Amino acid sequence: MQDIVFDDVTKAWPGSPPALDHLDLTIRAGELVGLVGPSGCGKTTALRIVGGFEEPTTGRVLLGTRDITRLESRDRHFGLITQDNQLLGHLSAARNISFPLEARRDTYTVGDIDRRLEREATRLGIADLLDRRPSQLSEGQRRLVQLARAVIGAPVALLMDEPLAHLEDQVRLRLRGDIVRVHHDRGLTSLLVTASQHDAMAMCDRIAVLFDGGLEQFGAPGDVYARPATVAVARFFGEPPMNVVSGRVEVAGTTRRIRVLGRSLPVSTPEVDVYNGRDVLIGVRPEDLVVGAPTTVSVEASVQTTESIGYQTMVDAVTPDGTHLHCVTPGRAPRIGTVLDVALPSDRLHIFDPTTQMAIFHPPG
Ligand code: ATP
Repeated sequence: MQDIVFDDVTKAWPGSPPALDHLDLTIRAGELVGLVGPSGCGKTTALRIVGGFEEPTTGRVLLGTRDITRLESRDRHFGLITQDNQLLGHLSAARNISFPLEARRDTYTVGDIDRRLEREATRLGIADLLDRRPSQLSEGQRRLVQLARAVIGAPVALLMDEPLAHLEDQVRLRLRGDIVRVHHDRGLTSLLVTASQHDAMAMCDRIAVLFDGGLEQFGAPGDVYARPATVAVARFFGEPPMNVVSGRVEVAGTTRRIRVLGRSLPVSTPEVDVYNGRDVLIGVRPEDLVVGAPTTVSVEASVQTTESIGYQTMVDAVTPDGTHLHCVTPGRAPRIGTVLDVALPSDRLHIFDPTTQMAIFHPPG
């Protein structure tokens, strides 16, 4: 197992801003790292550069300590699941899976290929589907065939671009598990490009969040959620997204308060002292807002939309000044137009600098 390293990688096409902008990122040997971010942030470009399908404009890609920036894609021995390498419709599942080995018959005998094919198909539970053409498989089965094809050559790394896109929920959940299992069982170093925060959170050891070709944050899923480095990351992770509103810091001696949505919340963090008399951005996760009886730190908000997921309901409610608050209530959905009392928990506030958009403070846990 070896690290995969982006060393100051920039990729720019003429006439456009860089798709990747001085990216430094190390995927440690044996890690499953997710590349996540909004559409156009450079995820696929990064994966294509590691795979050898694009050359960086500047910078290097390393495998361990070896510079592979200009190494041909076929010589990198990476397993691939990309948008471009769909299954070949005229070949059986078996021939699709063994295709990468057939192309290297100088290395693999027919016996080798058959043995590996049987092993991969059995491990992924698709041994009885090998004679079928792709059109005779379900979408989930086709993805398993792609996964088997990606790993049959015992690659050193697995590169995946949206392997779970457009799948039904049940199939998606199963395939998430299959991919993670394959990654661990084979001791791979893996890179997963996904637009889904849920897939990234569920599957990855660490998540690299890209915005505009730059690395906004790189960390374990729990850290990225609990300690977002910037407002953009805070809003990207979480469903519904984090509430972010403006607040004014008021410090008098050792007493610190933040005035937000017409309420004055006591805070204990000295990080706010330098912002005395100035505005900051306050972030509150929907699940941290408390819906209940009115208190001195609650605001009234009228229910605009609700989305029930059975055991709880996600609510979008609006305050009299027009601020939307996303909150979560247990049980049934409140009626549209119901006025809720939503308490702002002073011990659950994330605080951001309004100019740099960087986090100043996170609550514990
Ligand atoms: P998505 O999730 O929508 O696939 P992404 O994060 O994977 O987006 P990329 O596909 O890496 O983003 O694209 C990053 C930027 O680079 C985009 O602005 C895109 O238009 C641009 N880009 C990608 N490939 C090329 C190319 N071959 N020529 C010119 N510009 C390109």
